[in-house]
Amino acid sequence: MKTAEIKRRYLAHFEANGHTVVPSAPLPAIDDPNLLFINAGMVQFVPYFLGQQTPAFKRAVSVQKCIRTPDIDEVGKTSRHGTFFQMNGNFSFGDYFKEGAIKLAWELSTKSQAEGGYGLDPERIWPTVYHDDDEAFSLWRQIGVPEKRIVRRGKKDNYWSMGIPGPAGPCSELFYDRGPEYGNDGGPEVDEDRFMEYWNLVFMQYEITDVKSKTDFTIVSELPNKNIDTGMGLERIASILQGVDNLYEIDEVRPILARAAEMTGKRYGAHSGHVAGESHPDDVRLRVIADHVRTALMLIGDGVTPSNEGRGYVLRRIMRRAIRAIRLLGWQERALPELLPIARDCMAPSYPELEKDFERISTYAYAEEDAFLSTLRAGTTILDTHIAETRKSGQNALSGAQAFQLHDTYGFPIDLTLEIAQEQGLDVDQDGFRRLMADQRARAKADAAARKTGHADLSAYRNALDAGGPVEFTGYQEVSRESR
Ligand code: ATP
Ligand code: MG
Ligand code: MG
Ligand code: MG
Repeated sequence: MKTAEIKRRYLAHFEANGHTVVPSAPLPAIDDPNLLFINAGMVQFVPYFLGQQTPAFKRAVSVQKCIRTPDIDEVGKTSRHGTFFQMNGNFSFGDYFKEGAIKLAWELSTKSQAEGGYGLDPERIWPTVYHDDDEAFSLWRQIGVPEKRIVRRGKKDNYWSMGIPGPAGPCSELFYDRGPEYGNDGGPEVDEDRFMEYWNLVFMQYEITDVKSKTDFTIVSELPNKNIDTGMGLERIASILQGVDNLYEIDEVRPILARAAEMTGKRYGAHSGHVAGESHPDDVRLRVIADHVRTALMLIGDGVTPSNEGRGYVLRRIMRRAIRAIRLLGWQERALPELLPIARDCMAPSYPELEKDFERISTYAYAEEDAFLSTLRAGTTILDTHIAETRKSGQNALSGAQAFQLHDTYGFPIDLTLEIAQEQGLDVDQDGFRRLMADQRARAKADAAARKTGHADLSAYRNALDAGGPVEFTGYQEVSRESR
């Protein structure tokens, strides 16, 4: 079943059950310094859940575009993490609660494909519940799931809060057993690769206060209006229904990967078994390329452009990572003019605006690649010399001065220096690098003051760039407030 059809069936199932279809919010559509991009379907409904606004409907369904940069290191290594993905979700605002949510999820999961469902084998579905949520446990029993396949888990996996006073509650998640060729028996607690999480049902049940962390708080009371928030990874259910190993092999992603393999003459999957974590580095790189090119397309499509700070810097890092990955596979030319149109063709059936807007999107993308390639050409030669010198002198780290010279003279980003050095088994004296950066800033300030030219103080501009840019890159950590 094609991804677009899986999405259509999700919307149809919940629409037939009284849900209003709400379009995805654009990826950057949030005014929140802790969250650069929408990372779950519920984000656009937060004012309803917090009781700040009243929705015009009691039930909603959406397919939300999401970005999760904290997952970036998993991409290509696990079978199930993308930087961009789509989250199917159904929501109840003070309407149905646990029983309704569990029934609706089970129905769509197990109803036959001929009748419009996903036709999953009920015996392969393992629900988890929060360890003391006996109510959810017995609802799954009533549906007919045997006790041995209902797993009780702790706060880390099965409790949701936003880390602030307000609504919170236990979750119940659906895992699909992909079979013994994917790993150990024993359920989701033992192996989250064989048992793939595909759906999270959040029961917003309590009001919490005294919040020290996302798992440390005091429950004040039961909420008068209990809510449901669910999230199903569209790419995950697609990988299950399409019978492929991982989400980089589904219909919306695989063609990008295939083209990258063709360009670089790699035979994808030649060395890998089913089990994630045992992949050949070339296969991981091909998956990273496919994932990141698609993410870049979706980000630029939603109005983000490459820059040295905030959202634009996350985009820049993701694009550079893709370009570096394909270079490591031996491709030295421009890669995006080959790959981006394929990503567009994969995604345009669901997002026709990508087609219309492609001229603008590709102009930004190709210019970014060109700029990065010239930086790379200049910097790599110098860096290679530094690496050779370091080795020759028996040191195990590049000096702060070498990293600084690359940054200052050649515009070679420090994060890339770190990455390349690491690949060569070397460290970088980052403290030394930071000291030199600080010295330079101080000098620039003093110069400006001495000259008193009356022109704008360029050092301030420089400081802002440095703070938001490569020096203190926090783009990945910054988006840590996962929504559940
Ligand atoms: P995991 O434990 O596998 O990282 P999660 O518990 O962090 O997933 P949730 O926050 O519960 O995920 O999000 C709801 C659903 O969104 C998940 O059940 C999964 O299907 C999907 N999902 C989450 N993160 C990703 C990702 N990086 N790529 C693709 N799908 C994802
Ligand atoms: Mg996760
Ligand atoms: Mg999980
Ligand atoms: Mg989860």
